[in-house]
Amino acid sequence: MPVELQTEIEQAVASRRNFAIISHPDAGKTTLTEKLLLYGGAIHEAGAVKARREQRKATSDWMEMEQQRGISITSTVLQFIYNQFQINLLDTPGHQDFSEDTYRTLAAADNSVMLIDAAKGLEPQTRKLFEVCQLRSLPIFTFVNKLDRPGRDAFELIDEIEQELGLQTYAVNWPIGMGDRFKGVFDRRQGKVHLFERRSHGSKAAGDTVIELDDPRLEEYLDSELYHQLKEELEILDEIGAEFDLERVHAGKMTPIFFGSAMTNFGVELFLKAFLEYAQMPESHNSSLGIIEPTYEEFTGFVFKLQANMDPKHRDRVAFIRVCTGKFEKDMTVQHARTGKTVRLSRPQKLFAQGRESLDEAFPGDIIGLNNPGVFAIGDTIYNGKKLEYEGIPCFSPEIFAYLKNPNPSKFKQFQKGITELREEGAIQVMYSTDDFKRDPILAAVGQLQIEVVQFRLQNEYNVETRIEPLPYSVARWVHGGWDALEKAGRIFNSISVKDNWGRPVLLFKNEWNLRQVEQDMPELKLNSIAPVG
Ligand code: GDP
Repeated sequence: MPVELQTEIEQAVASRRNFAIISHPDAGKTTLTEKLLLYGGAIHEAGAVKARREQRKATSDWMEMEQQRGISITSTVLQFIYNQFQINLLDTPGHQDFSEDTYRTLAAADNSVMLIDAAKGLEPQTRKLFEVCQLRSLPIFTFVNKLDRPGRDAFELIDEIEQELGLQTYAVNWPIGMGDRFKGVFDRRQGKVHLFERRSHGSKAAGDTVIELDDPRLEEYLDSELYHQLKEELEILDEIGAEFDLERVHAGKMTPIFFGSAMTNFGVELFLKAFLEYAQMPESHNSSLGIIEPTYEEFTGFVFKLQANMDPKHRDRVAFIRVCTGKFEKDMTVQHARTGKTVRLSRPQKLFAQGRESLDEAFPGDIIGLNNPGVFAIGDTIYNGKKLEYEGIPCFSPEIFAYLKNPNPSKFKQFQKGITELREEGAIQVMYSTDDFKRDPILAAVGQLQIEVVQFRLQNEYNVETRIEPLPYSVARWVHGGWDALEKAGRIFNSISVKDNWGRPVLLFKNEWNLRQVEQDMPELKLNSIAPVG
């Protein structure tokens, strides 16, 4: 369609791409983010993202904890423009204890970038986050990082992804050497070699020398051994590798793979260009009215994350909303599907490196931050036009469980209020014993730090000092079919049943082994590792 015939929304959809990076700590997410922003011209000197982290530490409040431990708990959205594309990078918390927030952020993303350290290959957090991407059939682009250091063989890494994740791969580029002998990559799309120019820091965008594969000078540049190795490896790739299939990429069944070194900038721009060509546009979403296309003209969106007190000067809560359709305009009024209330969306914020900027309009694929006067919960839909509700954001299996005790009965009210609000905000999941005498809530977290943050905030924001009594479980499964199904199954060994906040039965197991035992012995019992929000 000629551009002039497109509506404003159609144009916005066509030019937007959003993604989140999934990785294990230390794989280089901060470094890659910084370099992507550098190419997008959003920052001129790399180092700004780290500086932002520092600055954020200085301005946080309950996040004093963050300061004490030097880790990044919060996540924001980084917007930049490259080749006329508006790119939204949904930044996720770096610390693994906060992967529950990361899970939810993936619910707002249309694409994911799986960042892997070439020396380490697949690591635990990457595997977990990969599973979440698969649940949503999210396209996954793989960037193998740190090629400037000795790492594992490229074929071996590809094999690991194929075998262990069951994900077909297509190497878009191929590394030439590694570590001290890293010379560059061969771009299989253009059939050209990009030679790496080693620079000391790589704070500026890297220039590279591009040369044809059959250029006689190549053998000399690479040295004979690497040259012949490259030719041989490319032949093997052509023989054993699958054909590139964009449909399979969009279905999350094939991952385009890129090799490079974020620290030295090498391969980052090649990756960005190819990513923009292959990435999925803002996607349609499933709702109570069926599939809603992003070009639907009414404004709709859903809340995927809430965050309290990001800035002590404001002492507010921010609701992060993924715009699904239509155009968002400052001060517009919308309907809140869960409560039926009309809400005015004032003080919208765009979150960016230097802090908050106000935002006047946003389109499908964008994320907006709204001051949350307590109306929003995770998974809530806001809409104009016909009433609709998007599919909720699921709860994921927590791995750490503990009774939360309030030793001071006079603080009962604050304690209840705090627990309810922190649960609604998604800071933690709350479960209860099926035994009526045990009324203390059970905190169910993905990481230990989540429990500490809840205790810290109860003390600071609600003035309640609490005690923790750890429980010896590490796996939770929701029972399909509810209490009836559970009763029918009879006695289950090595597990206890509790109820989640919506009264649904959840089985807690000490470890995976016990879970597998029960799954084997009782195939009729259907257990789920995720549950929809109640
Ligand atoms: P994050 O925890 O995933 O955000 O990782 P960082 O971006 O903070 O990087 C972790 C460490 O790896 C830092 O010391 C980086 O300087 C280093 N690093 C990141 N990318 C590269 C790379 O391409 N090559 C090398 N040699 N080191 C890298």
